[in-house]
Amino acid sequence: GKEMGSPEFDNSYARLPERFYTKMNPTPVAAPALIALNDALAGDMGLDAAWLRSSDGLAMLAGNRMPDGAEPLAQAYAGHQFGGWSPQLGDGRANVLGEVVGPDGARWDIQLKGSGPTPYSRMGDGRAGLGPVMREYIFSEAMHALSVPTTRALAAVLTGEKVAREVMQPGAILTRVAGSHIRVGTFQYFAARQDREALALLLDHAIGRHYPHLEQGDGLGFLQAVTGAQASLVAEWMGLGFIHGVMNTDNTHVGGLTIDYGPCAFMDAYHPATVFSSIDQGGRYVYQGQPEVLVWNLAQLASCLLPFIDADHDKAVTAAREALGAFGDHYTKSWKRVFFAKIGRAMGGDDQVVLVQDLLTRMADNQADFTRTFRAMARGEGARDEFVDPTSFDAWEAEWGGGDESIMRAANPAVIPRNHRVEEAIQAGMQGDYAPFHRLNEALVRPYDDREEFADLEAAPTEQQLVRQTFC
Ligand code: AMP
Ligand code: MG
Ligand code: MG
Repeated sequence: GKEMGSPEFDNSYARLPERFYTKMNPTPVAAPALIALNDALAGDMGLDAAWLRSSDGLAMLAGNRMPDGAEPLAQAYAGHQFGGWSPQLGDGRANVLGEVVGPDGARWDIQLKGSGPTPYSRMGDGRAGLGPVMREYIFSEAMHALSVPTTRALAAVLTGEKVAREVMQPGAILTRVAGSHIRVGTFQYFAARQDREALALLLDHAIGRHYPHLEQGDGLGFLQAVTGAQASLVAEWMGLGFIHGVMNTDNTHVGGLTIDYGPCAFMDAYHPATVFSSIDQGGRYVYQGQPEVLVWNLAQLASCLLPFIDADHDKAVTAAREALGAFGDHYTKSWKRVFFAKIGRAMGGDDQVVLVQDLLTRMADNQADFTRTFRAMARGEGARDEFVDPTSFDAWEAEWGGGDESIMRAANPAVIPRNHRVEEAIQAGMQGDYAPFHRLNEALVRPYDDREEFADLEAAPTEQQLVRQTFC
């Protein structure tokens, strides 16, 4: 039997054929030390937080020793990176240890990110730096608290080793958990190999994990479901001023989760043409372009699914086109839900769309802070002060005529992970001081509450604090 307190694994992905992954253990590290453990999440997953904190638990979170029932593997996938095709990506620095089923019946992958080289590492070292691990922890948990579907962060540990990046930094491992780690790129991997049998198995597996109401083998239903989930997801991003930064097809999750927090960011001042990512030279993944990129990524998924949509190729193409064509309607519906709530309206007609767009135009022209402007509207004061020319807001406000305060308070967060605060927490962590990191996470757990003790986290960056670029 398994050791007391260790996870009760039930590994379904590991039952898929060997060409889906490479079974392998993480590479042990020198000196594991716990930075953060997410007790609430451990509870939701039915894991024993006390065991996770124990030396055996820490040994698992660091990849040093696998508990009974774990079947670590690196998943194979492919993908389009910035539009260029890579036939083989895969977990180059991660291992899925296995799956657990929580008390509510939800199935979770437990993955270590930064756990050492794999056959998919190409030139990489298989490791993660402390900075990016802290970033992903902060952002993914903040997104969850903001009700945005996302992968989660169960734990962060130091490895006691150094990694070479732009600068040398402490090595770290994130325990990422999610309903699965199946990406559009996972389908592309098998489609590119014309491995129809694997595609059929993957489709059924993905349906079982994310859309259990669908029949097995229902390629069209699956494409429609992913399209709907992704349309809603990207509308949520837009409503928070979130820019993913690396919307490659291997970072597009078929369950509609936000995945892969690299050079992502929340905008400070609103501008639709904002790009933060240092690696996005062409601005492919610019804020306003995100919905369109999603359609492109979903088209890649659609082409993998054609044999499961209709035996007749032409009919399959027509049906797939229709399914993708529905993205616009899904997105518009979600966008209205999100942005109408931000101005305090439950729903509305096209006049409301014009009203929101007029506000956004004025915000862009006036360098209005995205989060602060909407939160100030919920509070009923101060929004005009976010505008270079406050009378621009006054004119809009007269058109608007006010909204429902409780709707706005629930739609417009007070606290988001502002770039300069994330940077500050990371810099302190590099010096061994995790207090700012923990404090930021504590504030981000309840982003819609006005909490006096966290009021400083609402401030916009000063010119000196402003972060213009993010790195992964
Ligand atoms: P990403 O841009 O984060 O989606 O990563 C793209 C690919 O690069 C994935 O296959 C990753 O596993 C791989 N990768 C990223 N960083 C490393 C690293 N330090 N070592 C090995 N592989 C990596
Ligand atoms: Mg990735
Ligand atoms: Mg990444």
